[in-house]
Amino acid sequence: MSRREVPAREPVRLRRTGRERHLELWTEAAGDPPPVYGERWREFDGHAFRSFEPGRSKLAAALVRDWQGGVPASGERWLYLGAASGTTASHVADLVGPTGRVYALEKSPRPFARLLRLSDRWPNLLPILSDARSPESYFDLVPAVDGVYVDIAQADQVDIARRNAEVYLSHPGAPLVLALKTASMGRSRPPAAFLEQAESELERGFELDTSVRLDPFHRAHYLIGGRARPALFREETGAVLRPPPGRSPGRRRR
Ligand code: SAM
Repeated sequence: MSRREVPAREPVRLRRTGRERHLELWTEAAGDPPPVYGERWREFDGHAFRSFEPGRSKLAAALVRDWQGGVPASGERWLYLGAASGTTASHVADLVGPTGRVYALEKSPRPFARLLRLSDRWPNLLPILSDARSPESYFDLVPAVDGVYVDIAQADQVDIARRNAEVYLSHPGAPLVLALKTASMGRSRPPAAFLEQAESELERGFELDTSVRLDPFHRAHYLIGGRARPALFREETGAVLRPPPGRSPGRRRR
């Protein structure tokens, strides 16, 4: 492709400033001030950016490390499980930008109320009060998505992540990103043993990236990333819940 044929670049929604230990991340705000959780705001090239804090977000902590997994990109639709009051979900919404969508699921009413208020200022963040253990309960609200992000800190977090990815990821190759809280799986074994267990549960359905340990930002947590294998979409992988036939092909597949 000649230089002249290179398509116009999407706006850069993620910026890095500083180096190594002083690396800072910034996402281009898809919403309006004030800050969501006390993060700093500044301008780059006339656009408002928000500091993306590794101490507050597992995705940011992985990005300042050597994260090779999926990162939400401009125009994409992501399903976010465990959005709480929107700290990381607002940055995911920044990354997908005004033409993307974040379907932000939270089951606890109190953080959900704050998430709902936040969505008034972040129009591409769509809060859903629901339980991620019942993916069928939000069929009518969530279309097929480009990526699934999971941060729910539950003993069955891996199973919940896999089942939602089976139902909602739009195609083989689409990314799953899972913030694994090993303490939720027990304290009888070292964190690395729980990571190994999680990876072995996921590897049949996903081509896994190298997981990143998030200490000291998030104690005994890992970020696990993988791309859906075609096998994930075949019925024989398990009791996959899918939307009723007849509605699914037109609505859920591209
Ligand atoms: N992702 C958030 C962030 O980075 O800003 C923090 C999430 S916090 C660690 C985990 C959240 O998952 C809690 O708000 C909790 O209520 C929610 N959660 C736990 N189990 C859930 C489930 N089954 N369905 C939906 N949300 C769940």
